[in-house]
Amino acid sequence: MASALTHAFAAVALTKTLSCRKHDWRFWTLAVVSSILPDADVVGFAFGIEYGDLFGHRGFSHSFLFAAVWSLLVVSCEYSGFMKFPRRWWSLVGLLFLATMSHGILDALTDGGLGVAFFAPFDTARYFFPWRPINVSPIGVGQFFSGQGAVVLASEAVYVWLPLAAVWAVAGVLRREPGGKSGAEIDSPNSRDGQQKS
Ligand SMILES: [Zn+2]
Repeated sequence: MASALTHAFAAVALTKTLSCRKHDWRFWTLAVVSSILPDADVVGFAFGIEYGDLFGHRGFSHSFLFAAVWSLLVVSCEYSGFMKFPRRWWSLVGLLFLATMSHGILDALTDGGLGVAFFAPFDTARYFFPWRPINVSPIGVGQFFSGQGAVVLASEAVYVWLPLAAVWAVAGVLRREPGGKSGAEIDSPNSRDGQQKS
């Protein structure tokens, strides 16, 4: 895994880069939770589930199918008011899907553990990217704060935080309207923008 802090930052940075809308606290909470949720699979160790199993660490919870089901489920429950506005509804699904999948993508860039079961349950093989510059974060919190965490955070700062912050900043500059108006509205099914565009 990469650290939880970095997974959360990646979800926020990706959303800020890809979406020009303002989102409410509920969306940001869901985006951060989605970016960290896949690592809930570590509880499986306590129940005897092996790392390399389908439901083991970096298994099904890190797959494209999990991200799709999770994002559809969450948006259906939390944003049912957007059903009338399919474009807005699907854009929220897409953003939460990306927030969830960003987790597996970062894990596949780390230099330790087993790979990520991106295509589970159809293909249970574990995958890494050919380039793996990120120091893997220890699973245990104790190990993270024993000094190894500083090394992990340093590599994440270079290979995750800085590139994503740069892309986020460039997107913000390109999106800025003359006069400084953002033109964005809070995501709400009752917003004027949502009604006009959907
Ligand atoms: Zn993970």
